[in-house]
Amino acid sequence: MTRTKTNNKSADEFVPEFRGQVLNWYDKHQRILPWRAAGGKVPDPYHVWLSEIMLQQTTVGAVKPYFLKFIEMWPSVEDLAAAETEDVMKAWAGLGYYARARNLHKCAKVVAYELSGVFPRDESALKALPGVGDYTSAAIRTIAFNKPATVMDGNIERIMARYFAVTDPLPKSKPQLKMLAAQFFDGFEARPGDFAQALMDIGATICIGKTPRCVLCPLAEGCQGKAKGIAETLPRKDKKKAVPKKIGHVYWIENEEGQILLHRRPDKGLLGGMAALPTSDWVKRMKSPDISAPLFIKSSNKSNKKQPMSIHHVFTHFELELILERSTLTNAPLPDGHYWSNIPKPEETGFPTVFQKAFVAFIKD
Ligand code: SF4
Repeated sequence: MTRTKTNNKSADEFVPEFRGQVLNWYDKHQRILPWRAAGGKVPDPYHVWLSEIMLQQTTVGAVKPYFLKFIEMWPSVEDLAAAETEDVMKAWAGLGYYARARNLHKCAKVVAYELSGVFPRDESALKALPGVGDYTSAAIRTIAFNKPATVMDGNIERIMARYFAVTDPLPKSKPQLKMLAAQFFDGFEARPGDFAQALMDIGATICIGKTPRCVLCPLAEGCQGKAKGIAETLPRKDKKKAVPKKIGHVYWIENEEGQILLHRRPDKGLLGGMAALPTSDWVKRMKSPDISAPLFIKSSNKSNKKQPMSIHHVFTHFELELILERSTLTNAPLPDGHYWSNIPKPEETGFPTVFQKAFVAFIKD
């Protein structure tokens, strides 16, 4: 492992100092989070795993109510394994990145039925579980089992970039930032779980995105980004490519019994396995986009309103505008995955966010 020097101190000097500063701060200021074991208690690996899967690319604030709902509905990994996939997807609706929910359920089944309900501690066994990659395996190993592993999330990357004044932009600098963090994590047997969570907390509450709160920071003394006056500009990032824009129609189709037509999206692909309203294809947005209705839907492709209602949604890789259209069916057979449902209450749709927006807009229209 490469050892670094900072402020004329060797790694043998500043590594223990850094760990001490971080842990002293944590003992006074740690966040109370529903998945965290309070004061000296042993963490529940089920809670740690569930929270870490939910926290992938999602904020703590957004995750909290979902985590509490999941552990209330499924208090153990065996309960979650025995749940219907449809119920898991419905409970996950609104949290985004739906492949996580499918993998979560698959993983619960592996742990419950093949591993007797016991999460593995070994890194390679953890990584063999569905939906568990480098970051999540390191986080589970460290937080649930107090075993040293280099945990790199966005918060810890930001602290490393600032503390060592790394000016290379992300994502190119990721391996360098991981190497810098590894010198603190490697071989730290005493409190690796607390150390990882302490860094996450410092990143989330002090070394925050735009304006780091250096006056409150336990690491201020050795921080090179602060000393050079460039902390706010770090970590630098490659310019983002423009996000493509797409457009399509979303349909409200009712039958004589007052039910609406819904679509369970195919397991593979965007929003896979989620219940949704039927839509046209989503095409590239241009002046006169050619949006054809599916064969089983009658559509003039026009609205009788001058300005048709639409909703916008931003996915990771593209922006979508969906034009709302009330429609009826043709004589063509309904394709697989479409079904009639009583109109749900808005808070009980189980739709992913984009379809929840459309549903609410239809109801208000
Ligand atoms: S001193 Fe400032 S920039 Fe450096 S780690 Fe602390 S909050 Fe971040």
